Amino acid sequence: MDIGDSPEEAAFRAEARAWLEANAQRRDPAKRHKQASTDVEQDVHARACQEWQRVLYDGGWAGLTWPKRFGGRGGTPWQAAIFAEEQNKFDVAVGAFAVAHGMVAPTLMMHGTDDQRGHLDAMLRGDDIWCQLFSEPEAGSDLANIGTRAVLDGDEWVINGQKVWTSGAQHSVYAILLARTDPDAPKHAGITYFILDMRSPGIEVRPLRQITGVAHFNEVFLTDVRIPVANVVGDVNGGWKIAHTTLSNERALIGGGNTAWSMQELIAMARHFGRTNDPIVRQGIAKAHSRAAVLQYMGYRMRTSISRGEMPGVVASTMKLFYARHWAATTALALSIQGADGVLWGDSALDDGLWQQTFCGQYAVRLGGGTDEIQGNVIGERALGLPREPALDRDLPWRETRGSGR
Ligand SMILES: Cc1cc2nc3c(=O)[nH]c(=O)nc-3n(C[C@H](O)[C@H](O)[C@H](O)COP(=O)(O)OP(=O)(O)OC[C@H]3O[C@@H](n4cnc5c(N)ncnc54)[C@H](O)[C@@H]3O)c2cc1C
Repeated sequence: MDIGDSPEEAAFRAEARAWLEANAQRRDPAKRHKQASTDVEQDVHARACQEWQRVLYDGGWAGLTWPKRFGGRGGTPWQAAIFAEEQNKFDVAVGAFAVAHGMVAPTLMMHGTDDQRGHLDAMLRGDDIWCQLFSEPEAGSDLANIGTRAVLDGDEWVINGQKVWTSGAQHSVYAILLARTDPDAPKHAGITYFILDMRSPGIEVRPLRQITGVAHFNEVFLTDVRIPVANVVGDVNGGWKIAHTTLSNERALIGGGNTAWSMQELIAMARHFGRTNDPIVRQGIAKAHSRAAVLQYMGYRMRTSISRGEMPGVVASTMKLFYARHWAATTALALSIQGADGVLWGDSALDDGLWQQTFCGQYAVRLGGGTDEIQGNVIGERALGLPREPALDRDLPWRETRGSGR
C-alpha cells in the first residue's frame, strides 16, 4: 500500500497550506505553552476558537467532510486529516467545537429533522458551542443507567436531574441530552435524546477543576428545565440507538486526535536534559516513535472505513485504547527524562510545566469517551468474539434495578 500523498492529495495539501499561510501565523515550535487554566484564559481560548472557526467558514474550509447539502465542503476523511496536519503547524485555536462538529453534527445529519439540522450552519460558522449531557454520577460506563427524568407536560418535556463531567458546558449555547422518559421499560429502552438550549431557566453549571489545573468539565444541575417536543431527536424512548451514533463518533474523535507533543519536541527535550546518549531513554523514544507510527496507520484504516460509509465501530475502540496507552507511556517517559525536574510544576518547570500537565492529562484520555476497560470489553466482544459481559439488569424494568431509586 502506498501511504504517501497521492497526486490529488498532494495538490490538496499545497492548496490548504497556501490558504493557511495567507490566513494564519506559523506556530513557533520553540514557544510551547501549557493549556489555558484560569477561567479567564479558558474563556479567551473559547472565543479564539470561535473566531478561527469563522475564518475557516468564510474561507470555505469549514466542515471539510460534511456533505455540501449541509453547508460542508464534501471532502474525504483523508482531506480532513491532511488539513488537520497542516493546520497543526499554525498558531490557531481549536478544540471548542469538538462536540458540535465531531459528535452532534453526524448525529443530526443521520437522525435529525430538517429543523434540527438547521443548527448545522451556526455550528459551522462558529456561533454555537455545544456540550454533551450524557454522564451522571451513577451512569458513566453504564450509561444506560441514567436517572435524569423527562416528563411530558403539554407540548414540553420537563427535565430534572444531574449530569457530570460535561466538557465545555460553561461555554455552550446548546447541548445534547439523554433523559429517562419511561422508567418502567428496561434501561436501554426508556431513554430519549434531546436538544437542549443551555440558556433555558433551571440550568446550573458548576465547573470542576482537574489535577491539571484546568476546569475542562462541569457538573450540570437541571431543575424543571422545559424542552419543546420538537427538540426530541429520533423517537421518544428510542434515544439509545441515537446515542450510539454519537458515542461511536466520540471514540473516533478522541482516538484520532493529535497528541499534545511531537516526536521532535520530545527529542529536543531529551537534548535539553543531556539524555540522548542514555540507552534507556533512546529505547523509550524509539518505542514511542513506533507507537506513533502504528497509530498513524490505524488512523489510515479508520479513515478508509469512514470513506466507505462504514461506522468507525470497533476500529475506533482499538485506536482509542492504543492512543490512551501511547499517551500514558510517552508522557511518563518525558517526566523520567527530566529526572528530578520532573516533579516541578507550573512556572518552575520546563515549558511552564507543559509536560507535567500533559502527563496528568492522560487520565482525561483514558477515561473520557469510555474508559480503557470499556474499550477492552468492546474489543473482546465485537472484534474477538469473546462471550458478552454478564448483565443481570438488562431486561428488568429500570425502576427495579440498582441506582434507580429516584
Ligand atoms: C476529560 C473527560 C471529559 C468528559 N466529557 C464528558 C462530556 O462532555 N459529557 C459526558 O456526558 N461525559 C463526559 N465524560 C465522562 C466519561 O464518559 C466517563 O467518565 C466515563 O464514561 C467513565 O464513567 P465514570 O467516570 O462514571 O466511571 P465508572 O463507570 O464509575 O468506572 C469506574 C471504573 O470502573 C471501571 N469499570 C466500570 N464498568 C466496567 C466494566 N463493565 N468492565 C470493566 N471495568 C469497568 C472503569 O473502567 C473505571 O476504571 C468525560 C470524562 C472525562 C475524563
